[in-house]
Amino acid sequence: MATPKRPELRSLPSVGSLLESEEMSALQSLAPRSVLVAAAREAIAAARSAIRRGGGRGKAEAAGRDAILRDAARRVGEAVRPAFRPVINATGIVLHTNLGRAPLAEEAVSAVTDAARRYTNLELDLESGSRGSRMAHLEPLIAELLGAEAAHVVNNNAAAMLLALNTFSLGKEAVVSRGQLVEIGGSFRIPEILERAGARLREIGTTNKTRLRDYERAIGPETGMILRVHPSNFAMVGFTEEVTRAELAALSRKRRLPLLEDLGSGALIDFTRWGLPAEPIARDALDQGVPLVCFSGDKLLGGPQAGILAGRKSLVAALKANPMARALRVDKLTLAALEATLRLYRDPEMLAASIPTLRMLAESAESVRARAKRVLRAIGADRASHFRAEVVACTTEVGGGAMPLARVPSYAVVLRPARGKVEDVARSLRTGPDPVIGRIESGRLLLDLRTVSRGEIPKLAASLVRALEEEP
Ligand SMILES: *Cc1c(COP(=O)(O)O)cnc(C)c1O
Repeated sequence: MATPKRPELRSLPSVGSLLESEEMSALQSLAPRSVLVAAAREAIAAARSAIRRGGGRGKAEAAGRDAILRDAARRVGEAVRPAFRPVINATGIVLHTNLGRAPLAEEAVSAVTDAARRYTNLELDLESGSRGSRMAHLEPLIAELLGAEAAHVVNNNAAAMLLALNTFSLGKEAVVSRGQLVEIGGSFRIPEILERAGARLREIGTTNKTRLRDYERAIGPETGMILRVHPSNFAMVGFTEEVTRAELAALSRKRRLPLLEDLGSGALIDFTRWGLPAEPIARDALDQGVPLVCFSGDKLLGGPQAGILAGRKSLVAALKANPMARALRVDKLTLAALEATLRLYRDPEMLAASIPTLRMLAESAESVRARAKRVLRAIGADRASHFRAEVVACTTEVGGGAMPLARVPSYAVVLRPARGKVEDVARSLRTGPDPVIGRIESGRLLLDLRTVSRGEIPKLAASLVRALEEEP
C-alpha cells in the first residue's frame, strides 16, 4: 500500500508557510490574496512534478524553498500584468497590423483621455439643447479636408464596405473587375464581404485586363452599384489594363449607379514628397467624379481604427439611414481620436512632426542610424563578450497593406549571441516585462530603429541586456 516517497516531496513547503514568508507578504500590495494563493499553489505543484520526474541536483534545487518562492513571485508578476499591453516595435514596419497599426498623435491621445474620463456632447446639440448626431462633430471636418458634400464614419474600412454594399446592392449585383477581387489580410476578402452584405458578385474582365465595355455589358436592371477597389497589398505589372477612375465615374453618372471606390490606406496627402510611392488621395478621387469613397483611419491616415465614407450627400444619407449603421457605429473614444487627428491635417506642413506614423515614414535613414548607435552604446556592445552587436543598413516595408512595393531604407541593430539560438533571444525579448518585437533575417536578429522612438531606447536597451544575459 505505502508507496515509497521521495524525501524531497515530504519537505515541500505548505501554501500557508509560503504566504507567511517575507517575500510573499511584500507582494500583498500588488495582488489580491486569491492571486497569491494560486501562485503559491502552482509553484509548489511545479516543484512536486519536477521531483516526480526525478533528476539530478538541478531538480533538487528547483524544489528548494527559495526557488519555489522565486517561482511564486514570478507567477504573481505574470498574473497582475495586463494581457494586452504596449510593446516596442523594432520590426521597422510602421503600419504593423499585428502591433495595432498607427500609434496616435499626442493631440489624439489627450482627446481620447478627456472623452474617456468625462461626459461629452456625443449626441447633444449644445446650441439647441436637443438631441444631436455623433457624426455632427466629424462630418464638417471631413467634408472640408476632402472637398466632400457629406461623410460618415464606422468601425473600420471593412465595415464601411459592408455598409455601402448592403445599402446599394442588397439583393442586387455589385460589378467588380476580376483584377480587384483581392484579399486584404486577416481573411478579409472582397467577394466574401460582398456576399455577406447581401449583394451578388458580378465579376467582369480578366485577372490582368478589364475594359470599359466589360462594365457596360455587365450593367443592367440587376445592377445595384459599381465597386472599384485599390489593390493595396499587391501590384500587377506587365500586360495589364484597368479602366481609369474618370471613365468609371462618367459611367456611374451616365447609368445613374452609385460607384464606391475603396481606397484602402486613406492617404489624405501626397506621400511622394517623402520619396514614397504615390497612394490614391481621397480628395483626388472625389475631384475626379467618384461619388463615394471609403478608407481606413489607422493606416496611412495615422489615426484610430475607423472606416471613413465620404462623397455625395444623397449617397451618404442612404448609408446613414441603413439600420446596419447603428451596429457599425463608432464610440466616443474613436470619435475623439479621429477628430483630433483630422484637425492636424489642416496644417499639412506640420504633419511630419505631428502624426507619429508620418514622422516615422518621413524620417531620413541617417537619423534612424543615430538612434541605432545610441542603442549600441546603451547596451555596452563594445565591452560585451557574450554577444556581438553592430549597426547595419536594412530596408523595411510600410505595412498595413499600403505601398506594397516601397522599400524604405533604414538602420537596425543586429544581434548575434555567442552561444544559444537567435530564436531564443527573440522569444526572451517578446516575453520580457517590456516586450520587444524584432525580426529574424538569415539567422540574425534585427532590431530596426525606424519604429522605435528615442524615448523607448532605455527600455529597449534594458530588455536587450536582460535577454542576452539570460542566454546559457
Ligand atoms: C486595409 C483595407 C481594407 C480593410 O480596412 P480595415 O480598416 O482594416 O477594416 C479594405 N480594403 C482595402 C483596399 C484595404 O487596403
